[in-house]
Amino acid sequence: MTVRTRFAPSPTGLLHIGGVRTALFNYLFSRHHGGAFLIRIEDTDRARGKPEYTQGILDDLAWMGIAPDAPPVFQSARAARHAEVAMALLASGHAYRCYCTPDELRAMRERATAEGRPPRYDGTWRDRDPAEAPAGVSPAIRLRCPQSGETLVRDLVQGEVRVANAELDDLIILRGDGSPTYLHAVVVDDHDMEISHVIRGDDHLTNTFRQVQIFAAMGWDRPEFAHIPLIHGADGAKLSKRHGAVGVPEFRAQGFLPEALGNYLLRLGWGHGDDEIIPRDEAIRLFDLDGVGRAASRMDYAKLTHLNGVYIRQTDDRRLATDVMDRLGEVSGLVEGRVRALMPGLKERARTLVELADNAAFLARMRPLAMEPKAAALLTEEARAMLGRVAGALAATDFTACGVDAALRAFAETEARKLGQVAQPLRAALTGGTTSPGIDATLAALGRTESLARIADAVGG
Ligand code: GLU
Repeated sequence: MTVRTRFAPSPTGLLHIGGVRTALFNYLFSRHHGGAFLIRIEDTDRARGKPEYTQGILDDLAWMGIAPDAPPVFQSARAARHAEVAMALLASGHAYRCYCTPDELRAMRERATAEGRPPRYDGTWRDRDPAEAPAGVSPAIRLRCPQSGETLVRDLVQGEVRVANAELDDLIILRGDGSPTYLHAVVVDDHDMEISHVIRGDDHLTNTFRQVQIFAAMGWDRPEFAHIPLIHGADGAKLSKRHGAVGVPEFRAQGFLPEALGNYLLRLGWGHGDDEIIPRDEAIRLFDLDGVGRAASRMDYAKLTHLNGVYIRQTDDRRLATDVMDRLGEVSGLVEGRVRALMPGLKERARTLVELADNAAFLARMRPLAMEPKAAALLTEEARAMLGRVAGALAATDFTACGVDAALRAFAETEARKLGQVAQPLRAALTGGTTSPGIDATLAALGRTESLARIADAVGG
């Protein structure tokens, strides 16, 4: 069988972290099996759906490196086909016209609730002669569902799940206004797109019972289903805003790398030994559905942040520098050169790109630098006098990291100071703060003119 999967977001909001994980699992599964991965935009909810959400979702998927093998399919463009299938079901007797008015349906529900029964459609028009149809009511089309027996789904993650057919009423597939219902559209689309595996959140499991009945009524092979557990917060409740970031754009803004986010999400709900770092090609090689657990997974922001730091250290300096420049809103070639030069040191200590940019910000600041209180405290009169002498020692060097290091060591020795006693006030003068990568690399990145000018500011201030 050729594996074909799809990710089918509804464009009613930002791409949620749970959605990305679903997309990722679909993508990896299809790649692992040499199949195809498709995207379907389920944009039939005109009231809540917005085109900008569609674009946002597609952009975020692209950012995550989850690219489909064909242009996205838009569900709204397929309404005629959904209606055609509903008509075919009507013609074959697997569906019927229901002329109940909204008032009648409301009364039916109220009666059922009053009698302690679940509010289901009672089959009023299931066997009624259409000749009795009231004038002026455009009928909905309902699926004639089996009333006895059970519907069984062998889910690749959840195992065998079943429901008694008596629990399911005859669902509407086409509304009175001719528009398809969501459950029906999904089945028609999955069939026409030749989807072999439907991998989605387990909040859709109850829909599956209804959907397999539509597949059966059409005599279509049903795809395999894999319902993956949702992502919860640390407290076990469904992940929401109050736990932290949930939308991909938020993670992006907070400085997470797509590779790190992808790696983290892969490990969230998919077990594979103890390896923490699994790059994409390795994930494709290893991923299969049998590693997906049945229990809800808990989002651990601290773990993600740690993993992001690991990825930052592995990321190319040039790419990091470009991101930092964007975050600093800085375009000058001079500052970019400094950021690039100091990147090996900067990336050692940052866990997010926001931290990285914060730590690099001093490279872009204009003189005279504003001093953090702790840095100002280091610049005592004695320290400033010493910095005056340090400037002389540094001026004689070539301003390479190696050159300034040798000069600083020699200076410290001559003055019988520890290197740290020289470096700390120097760092304050150069950065306005108390932390930075190695002082030698910092001096080399700022360069002779800027370094000596910053030191002079501190000495004079
Ligand atoms: N459109 C649905 C959603 O965004 C997914 C439907 C499906 O995967 O079958 O939750």
